[in-house]
Amino acid sequence: MSFVEAIAAKRDGEKLDREQIAAFVRGASDASLPPEQLAAMLMAICCRGMGPEETQSLTDAMLHSGEVWNMAADRPDAVDKHSTGGVGDTVSLILAPLLAAAGVPVAMMAGRGLGHSQGTLDKLDAIPGWDSDRNRSETLGLIEGCGAAIIAQTEDVAPADRTLYALRDVTATVPSLPLIVGSIMSKKLALGAGALILDVKWGSGAFRKTVDEALELATALRRVAVDTGVKAQAVITDMNQPLGPALGTACEVREALAVLAGAGDPRLREVSLRLCREAMVLRGWEAAEADAALTTALEDGSAAGAWERMVIAHGGDPDPALLARPTRTIEVAAGNKGFIASCDGEELGRVAAEVGAGRRRLDEELAHGAGVLVHARIGNRVETGQALATLLMGDREVNEERLVERIRGAFALGDEPVEPPQLILGTVDEVAK
Ligand code: URA
Ligand code: CA
Repeated sequence: MSFVEAIAAKRDGEKLDREQIAAFVRGASDASLPPEQLAAMLMAICCRGMGPEETQSLTDAMLHSGEVWNMAADRPDAVDKHSTGGVGDTVSLILAPLLAAAGVPVAMMAGRGLGHSQGTLDKLDAIPGWDSDRNRSETLGLIEGCGAAIIAQTEDVAPADRTLYALRDVTATVPSLPLIVGSIMSKKLALGAGALILDVKWGSGAFRKTVDEALELATALRRVAVDTGVKAQAVITDMNQPLGPALGTACEVREALAVLAGAGDPRLREVSLRLCREAMVLRGWEAAEADAALTTALEDGSAAGAWERMVIAHGGDPDPALLARPTRTIEVAAGNKGFIASCDGEELGRVAAEVGAGRRRLDEELAHGAGVLVHARIGNRVETGQALATLLMGDREVNEERLVERIRGAFALGDEPVEPPQLILGTVDEVAK
């Protein structure tokens, strides 16, 4: 059967078999299929969807398009964590040392910022000396030495995803559920930790806008993991406003340090603790014992100690005084009084990226001192002139009046009290009930 026939089959809503899906993925990784045929198949998949079996075949083929690390073979005890993305999501920086402090090793492959969301690797790059480029044996060494490895996805992991993702971006096929699942899970399964905790975001700042859509994604992600023999749990959390107050790189590292020292933002702390607990439950802990161990680790200094060891092991200097500071700060005040009715996290994330926490061109340097600190939360009452946020300036040339206006415009105020959205909806099973 020619590939044109496979495209036609999917166009007409038929199920693709394993070989057809393998040919598609091979075509993407070795360029044996032209971009127009790949793009046509992406659109057919986007419009017609895929069943669980097809999604599994797609993920398998993408996973095997490159290096397969299978970390579980050497470290069956290590866990991985993935978030479907958002802003102010500093959880990975907290979760890795916190789990390490509780005796649960972590192996995470992280990415750079994309669009409005700041990437974990970019945040870690704010730490002088930190080196995320590690091969498999170095990664094992990091886990052995400090209990946690956070490393960059290498060129050789799931190369088919790079081609397909770039094509999806320019063909309006990014939102397809099976394509998202294949993309995320091929990379997770290539690293191959034996347990995976998924933070699936819903809301205005997430790419699943409703709880039902998030539940559908969480269920599909977990199914692929479990069918591949990976223990997995997915938690659905709120992204109708930034999770933590800091949007940027160095400022997010500082916020993570505050939580690890037993203080910090309560929302960020709560989500971090919940994801850590679910990871420990996957590892056989009782939820209550996990909670107790985690709270103790935050309070007795062992989580902060685990952070220091993790930073040193990755080549970094843990002295927080070395983290970049803004060159200047600008308070953004409310133009009116009222209740915060909504907060456009995506817009705030774009402002943070523009001022220095993201790239406007692929090769642009970040300004690590730059970003946005959010002070007002949905449901808060603010007075005229009260600070909604602080713009952290870096050394980039930007139109600061415009950025200040955009930050102000990201907050909608109303006269009526507003109930803030529930931060943690629960695990997929709890939400599905
Ligand atoms: N993250 C990914 O890596 N891929 C997607 O398709 C969506 C989110
Ligand atoms: Ca290296």
